[in-house]
Amino acid sequence: MTITMKKLIAGNWKMNGSLAANEALLKGLATGMPAPPRCAVAVCVPAPYLGQFRALANALPGLSAVDLGAQDVSSQVAGAFTGEVSASMLKDFGCRYVIVGHSERRQYHAETDAVVAQKAQQALAAGITPIVCVGETLAQREAGQTQAVVKRQLAAVIHANGHCISEIVVAYEPVWAIGTGKTATPDEAQAVHAVLRAQLKAATDQAARVKILYGGSMNAANAAWLLGQPDIDGGLIGGASLKAQDFLTIIAAAFA
Ligand code: PEP
Repeated sequence: MTITMKKLIAGNWKMNGSLAANEALLKGLATGMPAPPRCAVAVCVPAPYLGQFRALANALPGLSAVDLGAQDVSSQVAGAFTGEVSASMLKDFGCRYVIVGHSERRQYHAETDAVVAQKAQQALAAGITPIVCVGETLAQREAGQTQAVVKRQLAAVIHANGHCISEIVVAYEPVWAIGTGKTATPDEAQAVHAVLRAQLKAATDQAARVKILYGGSMNAANAAWLLGQPDIDGGLIGGASLKAQDFLTIIAAAFA
């Protein structure tokens, strides 16, 4: 039986924004958002702006279909971890999603597969859906290691969260495609998504309902092409999520 599920388009604002810029962006989204959108929509904002999103979502009906996400979460529950933000804090602000294991965190903050798996665990325990990022570097792709790398990264999360693994979202983000303007071709992306789907199938009989997003220079021009692949269930969008019109065009391209 084929399960038809709504695609998910999630914006990753990264470390961009200000009170004024966020308000303009969110007002632009609220004004242009189809009612109801044919896909699920989320924005993953920097932690200091979670409250601003909440306040604006209360004031702008057009944002009612947009879920809130964060970009990281602590692997710890609470306590002496200066600078960290816990899953329960994100829950207090109504976060539905949190990105874990983004390649920028793996690269600049030395996050290991085990830490990423713990972060996913914290999110799930708080009732937040982790968007688990996996992806290979250019050197790994050229060495023919793409499948081995993404499978190793996902395996750590499956191992730590096996009983509720169908509750996660996976994002395949080839590192060489993030913020570079280079996108995986739909065939290249689909091939990796199929590998990830097979790995999920081996772990849960609910694998068909796990959304596997593609991320890496997805934009208004290439979204429909990528989102047309059978195992691409949405997108994690960086740069193009900072422009309301571009993000809305991607949302319009995403339907089951
Ligand atoms: C990302 O940061 O998750 C991302 C996909 O960025 P971009 O769309 O800018 O490549």
